[in-house]
Amino acid sequence: MIDPSAVFSKERFYASRSPIDVEGGRTSSAASGKRGFHMAGSLISDTVGALQSAIALLADRRRSRATRREFLALGADECTGILDNIGLTRSDFDDAMRLPYASEDMLSLAMLSIGIDPDRFESRKMARNRFMSRTCITCPHRRQCHDHLAAFDFESHYQDFCPNRDNFAELLGEGHSTLSAAKSS
Ligand code: SF4
Repeated sequence: MIDPSAVFSKERFYASRSPIDVEGGRTSSAASGKRGFHMAGSLISDTVGALQSAIALLADRRRSRATRREFLALGADECTGILDNIGLTRSDFDDAMRLPYASEDMLSLAMLSIGIDPDRFESRKMARNRFMSRTCITCPHRRQCHDHLAAFDFESHYQDFCPNRDNFAELLGEGHSTLSAAKSS
């Protein structure tokens, strides 16, 4: 009978990876040793990276499910009223809750990052009139958007992908930048 501990033993694992020298013995040269360490290092960091991504994905889904539950707990009438206000049907909402970072308010974060105060009257009015929240909630670029916001470089990249960029440009053009307000005060 095969002893499984021998098949998966550490010695066997390392022996199978040891380079064989010209005399036929098992020795490792400095170069191949470094290459081996480098490959092992890459493998470990790839594995850790994949694991972290999987954990982040699960946490994100859990948050989205919790947000959906809390929202629906408001009751049918209130939910319909809120969804109507932002131009979403119930089916749009269900689809949007499956998108990345569905529980996060990307619109406010995006506005803040480019210097627009999301709480100013004009910002809120335009967000409502142009259905900016709807655009954000159903945006296919939420992951890219989130990554740039997390890296604090959204302002340098959003013009390339953000469906709300023209609305942001209009708000900035109308002088609703918090940055210009701060400069002039
Ligand atoms: S890319 Fe623009 S529209 Fe999409 S989630 Fe980000 S801020 Fe909203």
